[in-house]
Amino acid sequence: MSTPMEIAEQNPMLDATIHPPHDASMDLSHQISTQPTIIAEQLNVAEPLAATDPPPPPPPAPTPLHDNKFLVSVEVCLKPSSTARLEDVQRAVERMLENRSMSYVDGLVLIPPHDLFLVENVQRICICDTEEWVKNNDVLLFWQVKPVVHAFQLTEEGPCEELGPDGQPSSFNEWILPAKEFDGLWESLIYESGLKQRLLRYAASALLFTQKGVNPNLVSWNRIVLLHGPPGTGKTSLCKALAQKLSIRCNSRYPHCQLIEVNAHSLFSKWFSESGKLVAKLFQKIQEMVEEDNNLVFVLIDEVESLAAARKAALSGSEPSDSIRVVNALLTQMDKLKSAPNVIILTTSNITTAIDVAFVDRADIKAYVGPPTLHVRYEILRSCVEELISKGIISSFQGCDGLSIPSFSSLKEKVNANELHDTDTVPLFCKQLIEAAESCEGLSGRSLRKLPFLAHAALADPHSRDASNFLCAMIETAKREKSEHPE
Ligand code: ADP
Repeated sequence: MSTPMEIAEQNPMLDATIHPPHDASMDLSHQISTQPTIIAEQLNVAEPLAATDPPPPPPPAPTPLHDNKFLVSVEVCLKPSSTARLEDVQRAVERMLENRSMSYVDGLVLIPPHDLFLVENVQRICICDTEEWVKNNDVLLFWQVKPVVHAFQLTEEGPCEELGPDGQPSSFNEWILPAKEFDGLWESLIYESGLKQRLLRYAASALLFTQKGVNPNLVSWNRIVLLHGPPGTGKTSLCKALAQKLSIRCNSRYPHCQLIEVNAHSLFSKWFSESGKLVAKLFQKIQEMVEEDNNLVFVLIDEVESLAAARKAALSGSEPSDSIRVVNALLTQMDKLKSAPNVIILTTSNITTAIDVAFVDRADIKAYVGPPTLHVRYEILRSCVEELISKGIISSFQGCDGLSIPSFSSLKEKVNANELHDTDTVPLFCKQLIEAAESCEGLSGRSLRKLPFLAHAALADPHSRDASNFLCAMIETAKREKSEHPE
């Protein structure tokens, strides 16, 4: 049997996602049990679950990998000024971890001040994804863990935009990954039921199957992901964050990664006559990138329903037939790209029911991204409030441990969910935060992230740092936002 390290070497991605031998993520009955939903290798788009569906079964107990050890990802971000080789930093961090009897919980690891090499080259060391294996704030101890270290350096350049002829909007943006712009994006997106982990695993398996040359006539799969759901639920951000995460976790196999964001709107704008040429030019560029074996290329196509709309309009004669040519050109080019092992196509759609577009059927990985639940709303607001405390805009709460406010799950561990308001065990400021989260039911993640700003702007005295006042303003603002813009 392979050791964890052998597995890590065989597939640089899988190591990151900590597959136990009986991987529950591959069991579809487990996946469709919770919201959001992911359905693989199925032609119909996954529907959100009805409210009457039976409660999800409890998640399977964590199973250690081989040698009774969990593979835990440790991400090491190099300083922008560092010129050290990634392999050298990786080895130095592995050595440092071997010598420390620490517990593994998600978060930052202190860089030992006496380790001058690390101090000079490393900006931060972060343990990731342990909560997948331990629940209820338990911790993994060093002897239970085989750390898998991923060293990376962020690129500082913003997106490279290419303007079309006559200064028309560009048909795509391009980033070299991992990019500074997307740093922390993955962590900032909050979903229930392990959606992010499952996306990582699917991508890992898709890359592995391709890498190993699995015969597509015998086992069919592809590398097209579709995230669908209401606007503002973080789909586009999640696609970008996934690309960034994979670029970090796969960098030993693919040292160069790019993200190309196709601007579907500009392809269907008034420059229709140019669109065919734009698509050809764009895909020629992508084709050149994928020819380089060491490149991993992500192609993001946002709001794919606009392609469907263009096709439908063309068929009904209300749009120039150019549009159908553009859609067809795009689909043909995507089919060509599919044979390349080092491309992942990420698509989003705001339409939650069946999407009538040919390439949706081409996607294997379809995930419904729904509006935030109470738990998620609380966590989003909590992260906003902690940020405002850390920047000194509001004061920290009395009885609160520094900047951090108790998480929703830690509150629920103490009391039953419907008793959260009636018990003295829950501090007042948490009750206020819960009330704010309850008042935001139906608002999107995007609206929630704006709420603290609107609440601050509504304060009678913007210089008062009183945290309790601020939370009252947030509750009022949430109620107002909901009544003015029901989403
Ligand atoms: P969509 O593509 O679904 O319209 P976006 O990716 O444009 O949504 O989301 C906009 C912003 O809303 C995100 O960058 C993020 O700040 C916030 N957001 C949305 N959903 C969430 C979430 N579940 N957790 C945290 N932030 C979220």
